[in-house]
Amino acid sequence: MPIKVIRDKFDLAINGAPPAFAEPLHVGRPNLGNHEAFLQRAAQVLDSKWLTNNGPIVQELERRIADHLGVKHCIAMCNGTVALEIAIRALGLTGEVIVPSWTFIATAHALHWQGITPVFADIDPATHNLDPDAVRRMITPRTSGIIGVHLWGRPAPIDALQAVADEHGLKLMFDAAHAFGCTYRGQTIGRFGACEVLSFHATKVFNTFEGGAAVTDDDDLAETMRLMRNFGFVGYDNVIHPGTNGKMPEINAAMGLVNLDALPGFVEANRHNYETYAAALAGIDGLRLLDYDPATNPNYQYVVVEVDSGRDGKRRDDLVAALHAENVLVRKYFWPGCHGMLPYRELFPHAGLLLEHSVAIANRVAILPTGVSLGTDDIETIAAVCRACMSDGA
Ligand SMILES: *Cc1c(COP(=O)(O)O)cnc(C)c1O
Repeated sequence: MPIKVIRDKFDLAINGAPPAFAEPLHVGRPNLGNHEAFLQRAAQVLDSKWLTNNGPIVQELERRIADHLGVKHCIAMCNGTVALEIAIRALGLTGEVIVPSWTFIATAHALHWQGITPVFADIDPATHNLDPDAVRRMITPRTSGIIGVHLWGRPAPIDALQAVADEHGLKLMFDAAHAFGCTYRGQTIGRFGACEVLSFHATKVFNTFEGGAAVTDDDDLAETMRLMRNFGFVGYDNVIHPGTNGKMPEINAAMGLVNLDALPGFVEANRHNYETYAAALAGIDGLRLLDYDPATNPNYQYVVVEVDSGRDGKRRDDLVAALHAENVLVRKYFWPGCHGMLPYRELFPHAGLLLEHSVAIANRVAILPTGVSLGTDDIETIAAVCRACMSDGA
């Protein structure tokens, strides 16, 4: 498809040509399993009149997920953020907890919301994941734990982070929101640290509309999280623990069961798209597709490109503008990093000085659309826009 992409620096009104895509292509369009199967499950929920409160479908989903990940306990929750909050409390984290700034804001918010200070450590620019040496440098007498994030589904340096945690007597848990089904050294993500937290938000590779879970092999921790999820209730009238409402409704679990059946197809479509992107974007000067190690069983949910940009990110921003003008709604996840968002910028105005790589990566990254509805032609068109924009020069 011939495209007039560079439209007077992307001002459509001047050029007037229609965008390359009539309908917008969104990042994070939901993966949907079989419609009929879902409607049957929905009818089952209505017929049973058991809508929530640890119903049979939630229990079935928990078993299926625990088996899928090879982990002992899966505690399904209403979303990944509440699952993080509950896990953080159940682990007894206090004071300061070390997290990456280069992650979705919920990782930091889950701490801050509970009066714990998120302390941002820098990343390894090659992996986008926490740098264990940077973590070590941020430890103070108030530090109680570390939350690693498996960003883009690429496993964090789990063994090295565990070693830092052990050396300093810290708790370690993982935000595994991106890493459903991915592996680290042959073992499925979900079994590492004290516990790991998943998100089943609509934009994730596996979704339950909204939803999430904490997974762990630790019996006591699992029991505490189950109590916290349901106001600390045991039985009808007996509250034995402080708690909140973190329960997953039955209809969400129904969606989960249907989507779990379809997951291999979603991952296969993403993998195919990823490889099509890799071929189509090859040789574009100043643009690099972030790779996945096939040995880690990636889910390929994120197509991440890095643009050679100055420290201000202008070239990346121009590329984003060019793609938006063509109705390709790429995202700058997770620019500018948590430390650059207002609540944390106000708390730690100088945090960026210690986050050299996080700041640089935040100014280089763009996320391209993928998913089952994207065709090879679409990807080639997107790549052609990228090529035209990048060859337009800095
Ligand atoms: C999506 C996401 C979350 C939050 O999950 P929700 O289910 O949306 O609450 C947390 N951390 C990361 C890294 C995420 O991408």
